[in-house]
Amino acid sequence: MNKTDVLIIGAGPTGLFCAHQLGIIGLNCEIVDNLDKAGGQCIELYPDKPIYDIPAVPECTGEELTNNLLKQIKPFNIKFHLNERVEELKKNQNRWHVKTSGGVEFDVAAIVIAGGVGSFEPRKFPVKECEKFEGNSLFYSIKDKSIFKDKTISIFGGGDSALDWAIELSNASKVNLIHRRDGFSGAEASVQKVKELNEQGKLNLYTKYQMDTVLGDKNIKTVKIKHDEGEIKEIKSDYVLGFFWFNYATWSYFRLGIKY
Ligand SMILES: Cc1cc2nc3c(=O)[nH]c(=O)nc-3n(C[C@H](O)[C@H](O)[C@H](O)COP(=O)(O)OP(=O)(O)OC[C@H]3O[C@@H](n4cnc5c(N)ncnc54)[C@H](O)[C@@H]3O)c2cc1C
Repeated sequence: MNKTDVLIIGAGPTGLFCAHQLGIIGLNCEIVDNLDKAGGQCIELYPDKPIYDIPAVPECTGEELTNNLLKQIKPFNIKFHLNERVEELKKNQNRWHVKTSGGVEFDVAAIVIAGGVGSFEPRKFPVKECEKFEGNSLFYSIKDKSIFKDKTISIFGGGDSALDWAIELSNASKVNLIHRRDGFSGAEASVQKVKELNEQGKLNLYTKYQMDTVLGDKNIKTVKIKHDEGEIKEIKSDYVLGFFWFNYATWSYFRLGIKY
């Protein structure tokens, strides 16, 4: 039985910084996460993507943010329980009894639920042919951006991830950004930057187009995109990236997989 002051459920940025704040006020804590590493969405879904909205940090990647948060809590020697999913919380007089999927048990005075989106999975292209290329030339998140250097990439989506990656990859790759609408849901500054790059010929922007099909043998060779009015274009592509959003359940203990 692990006994401590506070148990933090979730080693994403919220859980990591919370551990720092607890350390500052002199409380001991341990952190449990069902992933095999700390960092939450930042490390699992976009380790290589640039982040621009952290106060006093003009730019960093998901991995750099995680590493810095870990560095910041190093003085507190916090114990991590990774690959463990919290499944049960029970009140035990003035304390809590917590149990994980792997049978690890905790007796703690307080719990911080920093479970973020809980379990998440990317929303995928509805086109059947995409499945064949998933993981080799079609991706829903980027783990290593160096594979795209000098390649042609078709990015689908109109949110922050699609825009941020289109801007970032246009430095060393030929980028097509394809979005089903004229308007974007991402930050206005990024929308303006994408439009600027399009006007300068550094990126090709296709709005009101959607994926029609993807063609190739082992790897993708071209992508067919279809305009709202029916026109079809076939564009060369070494890689296809889809950044739509994630399928999340609504917030509940159930989403976190916890019996309460
Ligand atoms: C593709 C993408 C790009 C993004 N880009 C940006 C950006 O540029 N700027 C920005 O500010 N934000 C961005 N975000 C959002 C940002 O990543 C999240 O707001 C942030 O990760 C939330 O942190 P968190 O610690 O609250 O939750 P999370 O990062 O979701 O971490 C929660 C952790 O809890 C764990 N967990 C959940 N349930 C349990 C359980 N029962 N037992 C054990 N562990 C559990 C999960 O495994 C996870 O590791 C982006 C998100 C995505 C998906």
